[in-house]
Amino acid sequence: MSDTETREDRRHGPVTILFGKDGGKYPEGNSLLVEGSRETWIVDPSLGVVARKEALPRVDRVVNSHCHEDHVAGNHLFPDQPWHCHEADAVGFRSLDDFMAIYGLPEALEPAWRKSCVDLFHYTPREEVERFADGDLFDLGDVTVRVVHTPGHTRGHSALVVAWGDSVEERLVFLGDIDLSSFGPYYGDAWSDLEDFERSLRTVRALEAGAYLSFHHIGLVDRVTFEERLDRFATKIVLREAALVEYLDEPRSLDEIVAHRFVYRPGPAPAIVDAIERRSMGMHLTRLLARDRVEEVEPGRYLAVEA
Ligand SMILES: [Zn+2]
Repeated sequence: MSDTETREDRRHGPVTILFGKDGGKYPEGNSLLVEGSRETWIVDPSLGVVARKEALPRVDRVVNSHCHEDHVAGNHLFPDQPWHCHEADAVGFRSLDDFMAIYGLPEALEPAWRKSCVDLFHYTPREEVERFADGDLFDLGDVTVRVVHTPGHTRGHSALVVAWGDSVEERLVFLGDIDLSSFGPYYGDAWSDLEDFERSLRTVRALEAGAYLSFHHIGLVDRVTFEERLDRFATKIVLREAALVEYLDEPRSLDEIVAHRFVYRPGPAPAIVDAIERRSMGMHLTRLLARDRVEEVEPGRYLAVEA
């Protein structure tokens, strides 16, 4: 099969899902075209959209669920249209330096990542983008899009509820990177927050719709599958924390926790994996210390408190 044959377009109501290769597997993703009677939007234009650039319809606006490399990879195809994102992520579009601050990588790793974001993901700065906030409602003509702020993955990460009628079946929720993958929630960046992510999982669970779409992995699913996958996804957080408590049955340092691996599988991996593991499990450690479930028994060494 050619590249284009593995990138399916599927229509659902006024939404056309531009699936990335292999169902939107990273570095690609599943982008949306939302067509109202007055306006057409493209949401999270991915590398899969870049591959389709000769065949795209005219769009009026670009809307980003958050400011991450794979979600903004096609923004540069629309230099004359407004770009929209949540007010908390807007600064990421201003410059490559501002964009890098979202990830907060160790100095040694940043130059290579900076280069990838430009060379592979076409990062293109824009001085000013349009900012939206939680609850904002846009009318595209017979179709509305409501913003639901769901921080945790990044500060401004937002889900979008597309509606084209009054019934639940006439609603689609775009989940962005609440991707329901077997990997589980990603909160490994400087702009990530574990507890915000947990709150956001509860927020999206309460959004009733006929269909749910994530940017990667699961694609388009119904309510029943969504609930099932969301619960499994949320459980990954609980399992990571329980595994950490178990590992701290003798005093360990954060370096040892990172080397043991709770988010990623053990074994050789690029250095960036250690950085993500450190940030993610550091958040679990901080929370366990605050809840007196772990104590610092000597400087930099942590031990689980017997229940
Ligand atoms: Zn992301």
